[in-house]
Amino acid sequence: MPFRSVEDRKEYMKRYMQLPHAKEANKKRSLNNYYKDKESWKERVKRRKKEIRQIVMKHYGGKCKCCGESKDEFLTIDHINGDGAEHKRKIGLKRCGNRFYQWIVKNNFPSDLRILCWNCNCSLGFRGYCPHGNIKKGEKATNKSLPLFEMPV
Ligand SMILES: [Zn+2]
Ligand SMILES: [Zn+2]
Repeated sequence: MPFRSVEDRKEYMKRYMQLPHAKEANKKRSLNNYYKDKESWKERVKRRKKEIRQIVMKHYGGKCKCCGESKDEFLTIDHINGDGAEHKRKIGLKRCGNRFYQWIVKNNFPSDLRILCWNCNCSLGFRGYCPHGNIKKGEKATNKSLPLFEMPV
């Protein structure tokens, strides 16, 4: 169909897109793209997250310092000084989120962190001791136990 001007063409397309079948096809197309992109993007992020967590876990020995649990799903990073929640609040990170792992790498693996499994960590956190008896809560953080924080990019 010949158009006299760009405006004419635009107008035609606008009207065409209002037709039910065109609308439907367009919606389907963009949805397909959305899901395709979203999937691969999600996969990429997931892989990257896993990698950085593995780097951190490997550095700290890959198992619970108390009971020796080594299944990754059970492991978490603990602050030896027991001021983890406070520290994370200060630097604006979610507990055990990926940004925390990024932060650890960026700050050259601070030596006052360790790996604990959820069991040992929770027991220590809620009761102040772990029944395994292999760890105890560290001294309260002294004036300078953690390096200055820089927001990861
Ligand atoms: Zn444990
Ligand atoms: Zn324990």
